[in-house]
Amino acid sequence: MPPTPSQRVSELRQLLQNASYAYYVLDNPVLEDAVYDRLYRELQTLETTYPELITPDSPTQRVGENPAAQFYSVDHRIPLYSLENAFDLQELQQWQERWLRQAKSLQLDLENLSSEYVCELKIDGSALALTYENGLLVRGVTRGDGTRGEDITQNVRTIRSIPLRLQGHFPPVVEVRGEAFLGLDVFQELNQQRQAAGKELFANPRNAAAGTLRQLDAQAVAQRRLDFFAYTLHLPADLESNRSGNSSDNLSVSLPTYPQPTSQWESLELLREFGFRVNPHRQLCADLTAVADYYQQWDRQRHELAYMTDGVVVKLNSFALQQNLGFTQKFPRWAIALKYPAEEAPSIVRAITIQVGRTGALTPVAELTPVALAGTTVSRATLHNADRIAELDLRVGDTAIVRKAGEIIPEVVRVLPELRPEQTEVFVMPAHCPACGEAVVKPKGEVVTRCVNSSCPAILQGSILHWVSREAMDIRGLGDKLVQQLVTQKLVSSIADLYFLTETQLTNLDRLGQKSASKLITAIAQSKSKPWARVLYGLGIRHVGSVNAAAIAQRFPNLDQLAAATMMDIGEIYGIGDEIAQSVFTWLRVPTNQNLLDRLKDIGINFGINTSLDPAINPDAKESANNFPPSNPEITGKVFVITGTLPSLKRLETKEMIQAQGGKVTDSVSKKTDYVVVGAEAGSKLTKAQELGITCLSEAELVKLLSIET
Ligand code: NAD
Repeated sequence: MPPTPSQRVSELRQLLQNASYAYYVLDNPVLEDAVYDRLYRELQTLETTYPELITPDSPTQRVGENPAAQFYSVDHRIPLYSLENAFDLQELQQWQERWLRQAKSLQLDLENLSSEYVCELKIDGSALALTYENGLLVRGVTRGDGTRGEDITQNVRTIRSIPLRLQGHFPPVVEVRGEAFLGLDVFQELNQQRQAAGKELFANPRNAAAGTLRQLDAQAVAQRRLDFFAYTLHLPADLESNRSGNSSDNLSVSLPTYPQPTSQWESLELLREFGFRVNPHRQLCADLTAVADYYQQWDRQRHELAYMTDGVVVKLNSFALQQNLGFTQKFPRWAIALKYPAEEAPSIVRAITIQVGRTGALTPVAELTPVALAGTTVSRATLHNADRIAELDLRVGDTAIVRKAGEIIPEVVRVLPELRPEQTEVFVMPAHCPACGEAVVKPKGEVVTRCVNSSCPAILQGSILHWVSREAMDIRGLGDKLVQQLVTQKLVSSIADLYFLTETQLTNLDRLGQKSASKLITAIAQSKSKPWARVLYGLGIRHVGSVNAAAIAQRFPNLDQLAAATMMDIGEIYGIGDEIAQSVFTWLRVPTNQNLLDRLKDIGINFGINTSLDPAINPDAKESANNFPPSNPEITGKVFVITGTLPSLKRLETKEMIQAQGGKVTDSVSKKTDYVVVGAEAGSKLTKAQELGITCLSEAELVKLLSIET
């Protein structure tokens, strides 16, 4: 039964409170940031719809956490606010509309106030407020709960990029805010040392930085090599104005003897003159289009940086505008953090359905409430098999964390048991195939449950979709729905039948007009001349992905030669191991497969040509064919790591393919790694690769890099 709003609110609140405590106080997060952000947003939305459910201690009502007890806590002269989050460009647009509306209601003269934005990288570290008196650093304080923080001056003094004495021409009191952070290499080194010492690892550089800043031993802090980027400057005018409680009109007070910036951009310049490190990638943007370009550029390039960023911060440049717009209880109205697309987010499992693939494997799939991930909307995620569901302890109604990175198929990585509704049921794999109703089998020792009925419509549908797929016959216009109709209406009971379809049969199907039907017939006919390697791949022989098919087709340039080959001949090809060789060899000897091949031959499908590469005719041929593929400058000398399950290639064959072209495959990701090949269920290796900014490749991208013609 779905929870009531009040139940969900109190569960979310509890979960977020615990997570906040683990994050801010223990520096040891229990939730991924993106997951925290989404759950927080869900709580905010529920509280907006049901304001009677808001409590003063709700995480939505406070900034950060109370300062920890081991340091003195001090009041901030000016509160350290948090930043409102936007998760996409549409939310950024909405933020602009909000501040414009407010500016209008305040009757601000927007004609004469610049509405330029300053874009800065959002450094994933820990905020610090630094006070300088007569140019000397006198205090360094953490953000704490925004109004009170911890005095960690001793530790702050150890950060080399924080000047102990200001340079240039400065007023008697200056407050500087910025982000203390750990570079990725330092973070990695630190965790290696902790691992060697048997200590718990830091989850990410941000928590490592926060944890380091709150060490009691300043010597130890010094060794950690923290760094700092300054991004906010408060000069006497605003410090005074805040003390007197009137913050709206004092910026115009001129202090002739000291520089008085009138914009964020100018104050960043001044910070530099005072001797601070200011992030060089800041940019002045005239409008939201320029902001969007900046955001997209840094979403791509962020992996090249030596430190972590989790988005960009967009600030109105004009201080006059900032002053007038002011703050909400938690955020400035004139700034927003635009986060990079999340790769993990929570979503509710609405149902678990079963998909039957072309190999007969039954794959359970989680049907989800749609969620934006890695720039796409995800509403289904693979659950792989029944064992995986049991391992996750996933049930319908659960809030699950879903992951999708780049090309990777979305999957559930874990469940949040705290948010489980009452009366959920343990999942049981069906005993019968949902497509044909026949009993399914799960061989002992295997994780996959299979339908073994050779005339199961789902298996047929899967093989047809594979045959027409882009890497095989590339027949455009034959999608899921259409193939399903062809199978259920019994117009097709084998891939060979596709070549006998008529225009009239197709136009009788749902949603297919005369023009599309005729185009489809042409595309089917044209596919007869597709290269032999594609045909071989399209047959869907187990373990034969497009790369292997290309390798086999190169060694055996026609079907007759392949059919005459021994298992050993096939296994001798670079990248083809015993398992693949056996699979091909056996497949070719199954009578139903032989019948299919005969029919396809009669139709005129291209089963390769006779060439002088035949080793029986040309003794050099075997040698040269076995050298496939030649060393590849993109690969030679490069270090690869393979992680997760690739959609069609096996781990071993992928490794051999890379090695065959002069690449090296290792087990762990380090700075020496050039590429990480990422498949489903990729875990810490992917995270590490992302942290180190190593190029990640999908199977398709690897195949491209291997430059295998298919
Ligand atoms: P925030 O990190 O989303 O944004 C505000 C902070 O951004 C500032 O305090 C400052 O430290 C930082 N920042 C970096 N670069 C900046 C720049 N150029 N200009 C201005 N500020 C800059 O907000 P928050 O209040 O610090 O923390 C909330 C966030 O913390 C959440 O979005 C969540 O991701 C994370 N959090 C995670 C958990 C968890 O369990 N994983 C728990 C609590 C909070």
